[in-house]
Amino acid sequence: MCYKIDMTMRFAFLAVLGLAIFGCGNGAGNSEGYATQIPPQSNPTRDIWAADLTFDLNDHTATAIVQFDASTRRGATLEVGDLEIVAVTDAAGDVAFEVTDGVLDVGIQARKPHELTIDYRFGLHSELKGALDSGSTFLWPYFCGNLYPCKSDPADGLRLDLWLNGVADDKVAIFPEHIAADAPSYMLAWAIGDYAEIDLGTTAHGRQVSVWYLPGEETLATEGTTHLRAAFEWLEESYGSYMFGDKVGSVSADWGPGAFGGMEHHPLWHVSHDSMGDQETHVHEAAHGWFGNGVRLACWEDLVLSEGTVSYLTARAIEAVMGTKAGDGVWDDYGWRLDSVIASGDHVAWLQSCGQIDVYTELWSEVPYMKGAFFFRAVEQQVGREAIDRAIAAFYANYSGSAASMQDMLETIEEQTGFDPSELASGWLSSLGRPD
Ligand SMILES: [Zn+2]
Repeated sequence: MCYKIDMTMRFAFLAVLGLAIFGCGNGAGNSEGYATQIPPQSNPTRDIWAADLTFDLNDHTATAIVQFDASTRRGATLEVGDLEIVAVTDAAGDVAFEVTDGVLDVGIQARKPHELTIDYRFGLHSELKGALDSGSTFLWPYFCGNLYPCKSDPADGLRLDLWLNGVADDKVAIFPEHIAADAPSYMLAWAIGDYAEIDLGTTAHGRQVSVWYLPGEETLATEGTTHLRAAFEWLEESYGSYMFGDKVGSVSADWGPGAFGGMEHHPLWHVSHDSMGDQETHVHEAAHGWFGNGVRLACWEDLVLSEGTVSYLTARAIEAVMGTKAGDGVWDDYGWRLDSVIASGDHVAWLQSCGQIDVYTELWSEVPYMKGAFFFRAVEQQVGREAIDRAIAAFYANYSGSAASMQDMLETIEEQTGFDPSELASGWLSSLGRPD
């Protein structure tokens, strides 16, 4: 351990004994033979580009090996939520660190990339804020720090490796061991339970699609994913290559009674028990592989770029693989949801600030989902399907693996179709009510 106060005591102790001192940290020895240590230093803009995470589920310990880029100044900063940081080390030994209000500052050099190993303890949560006592994890929007040292900024992308030790012999753990494309920090997940798998087949692009269900859910899971493989294939063919692996699918997650929806934990996204029979939810979470995850949000204020685009793509995919009647059914459902939220708590779908809001309490509602979907539908009605699909595919080709804003989407639509969507965006995304 290497808190600042411990260092003072250790140096004093060793000096009394007259021993050669090899301090913790990576600083070069000074002229008196002392190893110096870089003090912990805040540096929130220093990028973390990969994390290799190993969890022990028996004693709730974990190790994160994180890769930092070089920086113009010393130090690095990560969110650590309610984690208990035990030790921070690098190739040279202990690294000085400090934890203040869920934020970890470490003392590392500036100019070179740096690999750190962080040993810590994690807790289980009854609310959807980290590792859940019901067996899965839930990190959206900014709870990654309750599971691993991270940056919850949605624009930040990193490669992730995951391993779980201590899974009970009679349980199955569903998680991606390796995510080989930049992902937002909340994308990482596991689910542990009495899972059974149904192989739904392989797409023309080589993605094997499955659904994992819990006891008693076989009928729901089968009904809910009848067209999931075809929908996934349609998304690949329409908008571009999927980034997050060759084995994908829906995993039932126990979020407790009355919890609907899913979470875009690609490549093995979660769907709540109460939504396992709902085709729309399965396709919606799949489509986040392109928007929300494949293209990350520049700011939480751009949530509509994830949820609105995905809601539109869901309706399109369902129509494409299940027919016009099913597609019309989705739009009927969307219309009802839109009218309900306008009546019960209307707000605008798209905010112009960046990083200034609590997305969970200030923006997340049906509004960005539904107004976003209807915005894209209105653009489609102006330019035609072929043109809107060309614009969405061009946007994905340009921004996949990076972060983008809704403004970037408006500009791409105009570039690709010649139609300026700003008036429709103003009506659907920046106004109350519905402009139609
Ligand atoms: Zn969504």
